[in-house]
Amino acid sequence: MRDTVPSKVFFAPARVTKWKYDDSMPGKLQRLLKTFNLSAVFDKDEWVAIKTHFGSPGAHRIVRPVFLSRVVDAVNEVGANPFVTDTVRIKGLEYLKVANSNGINHLSVGAPVILADGLFGNDNIILPAGEILGRIAVASAIHDVTAMVVCSHVKGHINAGYAGALKNMAMGGVSSSHRECGWKCGRGSMHTIGEGELTWNEELCNYCMQCVELCPLELLAFKDDKLRWDKEHCWRCGRCERGCQAGAIHLPGDDERFMRSLAEAAMVVIKTFRPDKIIYINFLTEIQPECDCMPAADVPVVQDIGILLSNDIVAIEQASIDVLKEKHLPSSMAEDVDAEGDIFKGLHSKPYELQVSEAERLGLGSRRYELVTL
Ligand code: SF4
Ligand code: SF4
Repeated sequence: MRDTVPSKVFFAPARVTKWKYDDSMPGKLQRLLKTFNLSAVFDKDEWVAIKTHFGSPGAHRIVRPVFLSRVVDAVNEVGANPFVTDTVRIKGLEYLKVANSNGINHLSVGAPVILADGLFGNDNIILPAGEILGRIAVASAIHDVTAMVVCSHVKGHINAGYAGALKNMAMGGVSSSHRECGWKCGRGSMHTIGEGELTWNEELCNYCMQCVELCPLELLAFKDDKLRWDKEHCWRCGRCERGCQAGAIHLPGDDERFMRSLAEAAMVVIKTFRPDKIIYINFLTEIQPECDCMPAADVPVVQDIGILLSNDIVAIEQASIDVLKEKHLPSSMAEDVDAEGDIFKGLHSKPYELQVSEAERLGLGSRRYELVTL
C-alpha cells in the first residue's frame, strides 16, 4: 500500500499565453521532464523503453513524434539509452509501416523504434496475474528492460469509457498471443470471456465487408453469403466487432470485467520494474471518442488540455479524469473574446471576408455554393 503523502502530478496546460518556444507544448514537455529530474530515475547507459501506441492507418491522433522526440532527448541527456516501442496489434511488419506513416521512426524520434513482442507478436514471457486473468503474456522487451517512460494518449474507449496510462500498460504491455497458450494468455483474454465464441447474426448483416477488411489476420471471409471464422488462429482482438456498425458480429464480453482486467494486467507489467523506474506522461491532446486502434480517428470531443507527468499511474489517471471533467470546450483563445459567433472577427478585428469578396470581384469564383454531404 502506498503511503499517505499525496503523489505529485505535474501538469502543463496546452493553452499558449506567450508566443515563445517555452510556452509551446514541446517546450512545456521539456520543462516538465526537467522538473522531474530524470537523472534520479535512470542510470547511465540503462536501456529505457518509451512505450507509446503507434495508432492505425486511419487513426492519426496519437502521441505525436515531436513529443516522443523530446522524451528521447531527455533520456539521452541523462546518459541512458532510449528506444520507442509498442506491441504488435496487426501483423508486425504492417504495424511498423503504420508507425512510420504516422511519423514515428528512428529519424523523427531520434531513437530505434521496435516492436516489444517481436515481428510475430509472440515474443513474450508468461507471468502470473490475478483472479481474472490467471496468467498473462508480457512483451519480452518490456519485461526485460529495467526502466520505462509510458507515453499515453488520453481518449475515450468503447468498453472502458476512458483510456489512458492503465490501458496503455495493460493492453500495450501484453501480447496478442503466446506460442503455447495462444490468445488465452494474451490481450484477448481481457476483451472476451469464456471461449470467446464469435457469433454472427445473418439478419443484421448488410455484407459491407468491413469485418473482413479489419481483421488483422485475415481470418474472416464470406462463403455462400455465410461468415466463416478461423476460430483457431483468432486473437479475440475484437476489431471485427467494433468495426461492425450493424451490430452483426458479437464477441462475448463484460465491460466491468474488462476494466478490472486492465488494472490487473497493468499491475503485472508494472511489477516487472522497480517502483521508482517508471514514469508516466499523459497527453490530453486531440481527445477523440475512441481508441487509437480504430480504423479512423474522429474529431476531438474535448479541446486540448495539456500534458501530465507523474511516477504514480493511479494519481496521473485520476488527475487526467478530473481535469477532463473540468475542462470542456472551448478552453482556448476563443473564450477570451466577445465574438458574437464570429471567433476570428472577435480575435483579430479584421474584415477578413474582404479577401474572398475581392477574389470573387476579380472573377476567381463565387461565394454561393451548395453543400453536398456524402
Ligand atoms: S461488418 Fe458486420 S455488417 Fe459488415 S459484413 Fe461484417 S458482419 Fe456483416
Ligand atoms: S477478433 Fe475478429 S478481427 Fe480479431 S483476430 Fe479474431 S476474427 Fe480477426
